[in-house]
Amino acid sequence: MNDIKLALLGSEGAGKSAVLVRFLTKRFIGEYASNANSLYHKRFSIDGRQLNLEVFDPCSQSEESRCILEEPLDWADGFVVVYTISDSTSFLNAKNILAQIKESRRETCKGEVPICLVGNKQDLCHSRQVSEEEGRSLAQENKCLFQEVSAAENYLEISNLFIKLIRNVMEQLKHRGDRRRYSGSKSMAKLINNVFGKRRKSV
Ligand code: GDP
Ligand code: MG
Repeated sequence: MNDIKLALLGSEGAGKSAVLVRFLTKRFIGEYASNANSLYHKRFSIDGRQLNLEVFDPCSQSEESRCILEEPLDWADGFVVVYTISDSTSFLNAKNILAQIKESRRETCKGEVPICLVGNKQDLCHSRQVSEEEGRSLAQENKCLFQEVSAAENYLEISNLFIKLIRNVMEQLKHRGDRRRYSGSKSMAKLINNVFGKRRKSV
């Protein structure tokens, strides 16, 4: 069974939890716990292969959040970077996050880091501050997947995007020969729980 580890990153309120919950449960519930980091688990089947998906969804409010970028950067195989199309600050933040991912992986990762850039809250396009073109070109510069979505209104686009990202991660892991994967017996899930708090969710 393949383990696939993804981390969501982005400004507080960008919709990280909403996007993830939409993908995992097909639902939008409107309000999401924002005071703790969460690690979600899901068994998943893609192209006939069974996967063990773990997704780290950081909270943006706690003391711990200061180190939030560093740990998932080492831990995750792929990233979902979320901004809000109606908030240009969140877009700038996404840009910084992309740069930090690249920087942290420069030495350890041959080839591209699987990332998808997500412009969320497409339903708020009447108050749009970031054009779709800006999003697309930032994604192109960083060689990542890109999609504008609305966690509030759509499931399919979000699901397709995660599936594409997971496929990219599977490709990467194949090329990497799973070096990191078998380098120690310590469960990364346990490690990340220790670092980021105890909440663990199964869906
Ligand atoms: P996080 O801090 O990045 O995890 O953001 P949340 O997922 O908690 O979402 C922040 C707020 O934005 C919540 O009130 C959500 O209901 C709202 N939200 C999330 N996605 C959407 C969306 O696609 N459209 C709209 N209109 N609101 C959204
Ligand atoms: Mg959240």
